[in-house]
Amino acid sequence: MISRRTSLGVKVGAVTIGGKAPIVVQSMTNTDTADIDGTVAQVKALARAGSELVRITVNNDESAAAVPHIRERLDAMLISTPLVGDFHFNGHKLLKAHPACAQALGKLRINPGNVGRGSKRDPQFAEMIETACKFSKPVRIGVNWGSLDQDLLTRMMDENSKLAAPLAAIDVMREAIVVSALDSAKRAESLGLKSDMIVISAKVSGVQDLIAVYRNLAARCTYPLHLGLTEAGMGSKGIVASTAAMGVLLQQGIGDTIRVSLTPEPGGDRTQEVIVAQEILQTMGLRAFSPMVIACPGCGRTTSTYFQELAQKIQSHIRHRMPEWRKRHMGVEEMSVAVMGCVVNGPGESKHANIGISLPGTGENPVAPVYEDGAKTVTLKGDRIAEQFQELVERYIERTYTRSPQ
Ligand code: SF4
Repeated sequence: MISRRTSLGVKVGAVTIGGKAPIVVQSMTNTDTADIDGTVAQVKALARAGSELVRITVNNDESAAAVPHIRERLDAMLISTPLVGDFHFNGHKLLKAHPACAQALGKLRINPGNVGRGSKRDPQFAEMIETACKFSKPVRIGVNWGSLDQDLLTRMMDENSKLAAPLAAIDVMREAIVVSALDSAKRAESLGLKSDMIVISAKVSGVQDLIAVYRNLAARCTYPLHLGLTEAGMGSKGIVASTAAMGVLLQQGIGDTIRVSLTPEPGGDRTQEVIVAQEILQTMGLRAFSPMVIACPGCGRTTSTYFQELAQKIQSHIRHRMPEWRKRHMGVEEMSVAVMGCVVNGPGESKHANIGISLPGTGENPVAPVYEDGAKTVTLKGDRIAEQFQELVERYIERTYTRSPQ
C-alpha cells in the first residue's frame, strides 16, 4: 500500500486537493477561451471523460469577459466541474478589470516567472493574490522551467559560482525552481492568502528533473502538489514520459493532483489526456475510474484482426457507457473485464476477472467461452460474439452493482 505524503487539503469548489482526498485528475482546454461555444463544448467533453478540474487560459480581455458566460452555460448543463484560470503577464490587470471572471473561477493559476519583470513583479503578484483573497479563491503557484524567474536564476547561478565547490548548473536550476515556488507561496501567505488555499507545481520536461524537483518540494513543504511533466510530447512518447515520471513520484506518495500534458495529434481528441491520467492512477491501484479491460497482446495464435477488433469494441463500449453506469451503479469502476485471444491463457485470466471471454485462436473451435465470477457461464459462437458479450457485460453490471441513489 502506498502511503501518501501528508499535505493540507485545498478546496476548489466541491473538489479537494490534498489531505486525505483521492488524487484529483485535471486537464486543460486548447480552445480560444473567448470562443464561448467551443470552450464550453471542450470543457463538457473533458468533464464527461472524468476531468475533475479543467483549466482554461485567460490571456486577454475577451477571454476574461467570456469566463462568467462559460461558467453559466456549464452550470445550466449541470456540469459543476470547477474552472481554473491560467494567468500570465497581464493577469493582475485582467482580474482587476473583470471581477466576474475572478468570481466564476474555482482557482487561479499564477506563474511566478511570468508575473512581471524587475520592480513590477512584486506589486503585480501582490495584486493577483489580493484578488484571490478578496474572492476566496485558492491559487496554484505554478512554476515552469521554461518561464523560470530569470532574476532569481541569475542570482543563484552567481552565488553558486562563488562557492569553493560549486554545484552543477542543472542542480542550481532544479533548486531555483523549488525556491521560486516556495518563496512565492511564502509571499502569498504574507499577503494574506491562507496556507490551505495554496497548491504548488514545479513543472519541467525531463523525467529525472521532475523526480528530483518534486522529491525536494515534498520534503520542504506541506502544500498539496500538482504533478505533471510539462511539454510531455505527442503520442506514446508523451504518455511514456509522463507515466515514468509520475509513477515514481506517486509510488512515493508524492502528488495530490495530476495532469498529463499531451500534445494532441492534429484533429485528435483532447480527452486523451484525461484517460491517460486516469489509467496511470488506476493501473497503480490508487483510484478506480472505469472497468479495466485486461487484454492479451495477441500472438501467432491470433492471425486474424478479429481479436483486436473485439478488444477495441469492448474498450470503447465501456468508455461510452461509463458516464451512465457511474450514475447508476456504485462500484462499477472496480470491475475487470478480460478479453483474451485464445485458450492458452484465456480461461485462466477470465477466471480472475469479473467477466472474461476467450476468443478462438487460429485453428481452434470457433467458440468463445465466457466466465463470470470465476465460473464458465456460456459459450458464444457465430457472427455476433462482440454484441452478445457486450450484452452479458451489461447484464453482469445490472445484477452485480447496486443501484446508486438517484
Ligand atoms: S492468450 Fe493466446 S493469443 Fe493471447 S498472447 Fe497468450 S497465447 Fe497468444
